[in-house]
Amino acid sequence: METMTTALPNIIDLSFPELQHAIASLDEPSFRAAQIHQWLFSHQAKSFEEMTTLSRTLRQKLAETFSISHLQLVDHLESTEESGDNLTEKILLKLPDNELIETVLIPAENRLTACLSSQAGCAFQCTFCATGKMGLHRNLTAGEIAGQVYALNAIVSMRKPDKKITNIVFMGMGEPLMNYDNILESIETLTTKNYNVTLSQKKITISTVGVIPQIRKLGASGLKTKLAVSLHAAEQQKRESLMPVAAKLYPLNELGKALAGYSSATAMPVTIVYMLQKGINDSLEDAKLLARFAHGFLCKINLIDYNSIINIRFKPVNSSSREVFQQYLIDSGLHVTVRKSYGTTINAACGQLATTGMAESQ
Ligand code: SF4
Repeated sequence: METMTTALPNIIDLSFPELQHAIASLDEPSFRAAQIHQWLFSHQAKSFEEMTTLSRTLRQKLAETFSISHLQLVDHLESTEESGDNLTEKILLKLPDNELIETVLIPAENRLTACLSSQAGCAFQCTFCATGKMGLHRNLTAGEIAGQVYALNAIVSMRKPDKKITNIVFMGMGEPLMNYDNILESIETLTTKNYNVTLSQKKITISTVGVIPQIRKLGASGLKTKLAVSLHAAEQQKRESLMPVAAKLYPLNELGKALAGYSSATAMPVTIVYMLQKGINDSLEDAKLLARFAHGFLCKINLIDYNSIINIRFKPVNSSSREVFQQYLIDSGLHVTVRKSYGTTINAACGQLATTGMAESQ
C-alpha cells in the first residue's frame, strides 16, 4: 500500500516567538531557542546534526519535527563596466515553495549595499514597476528576509573572504511596511551582536510607497533605521496615475502629516525618492510642487533616473531637464542628491529579474 509522506515544516519559517513555543513544546529550556536561531542564521546550519551545542536527543527530536531549507541561488547577473554601473549585481533566489525573489548588490567606494525583497510579488500595482504586474503572491518570512543577506554574503565572500554587506535597503520586490512584523524581526536578526552578520540599524533603510499607519508605528517603535518614501509625484492626481493603489489609499496631504510626525518623533530626516520620468513628472511645475511638499518636514530628496524595462511605457529623463529640476529644489533650500540608475544593463529595477525568470520558466 502506498504511504503519503508529508514534508516537515521548514524551521527557518518560524518567527522567534514560534521557535520559542516549539522548543517549549519539546520540553526543552527556553535558551535553546536562541541557540538554534544562532545555528540557523549565524552559522547557516544545513542540518540539525551540525548543531553540536545541542544534545543528541534534541537534535534527533528536531530532525523528526522540522526540515531546514535555506534560499537557493537561481541566477546571477552582473552589469557591465561600459554602462558605468560599477558592477551592480542582480541575484535571483528561490524560496522553498519555488517562489522567486530578487536581490541586488550595489557596490560603492566603502560600502556594499544589498537591496532586499520583502514580499514575493506586490499588491500595489505601481504602473512603472514589474513586480506590481505580478500581484502579491505572499509575504516573506522573517527568516527569508534575513536569509537574503546570508545568501548574498556567501556569493561575495567566495571572491573576497573579508568582504561583506555593509548596508541594507528594503527596496526590492514588495512593500516592506505591508510585512511589518517580519521586517522588524529580520532587522533584529541582522543586527544581533556576535552573529556572523551584525549590522547597525543606522545602515538599514526601509523604503515605502507611503503606508501611513505603519509609518506612524515605525516612528513610535524606537528603531534607528532610516525611512525612504517613494513619492514620484507631489500632486494627488498625477501620483494616482503612477501609483494607483498606494496614492488612493494614502493621499498626499495625509502622507505629508505622517512624515512630519515621523521625522519629529525620530529626529531623523526622511528620504523622498523621486524617480524622474520623461514628460511625466519632470517639469518645473512638478519641481515646485515637490518643493512645497518637502518643506513640510525634515527630509532630503533623492532624484533617480527611471530605469526603463521591458514592456513598460515610461522613458528616462533628459539630463538637461534633470538639471533644471534639481537646481530649482536646491535654490529652494532643499538637500538634493542625484542617484544614477543602477544596473541598467541587468534590468536591476524592482521585480524585473524575477518576472523575466518566471516568463522563461513558463
Ligand atoms: S514599486 Fe514597490 S510598492 Fe509599487 S508595485 Fe513595485 S514593489 Fe510594489
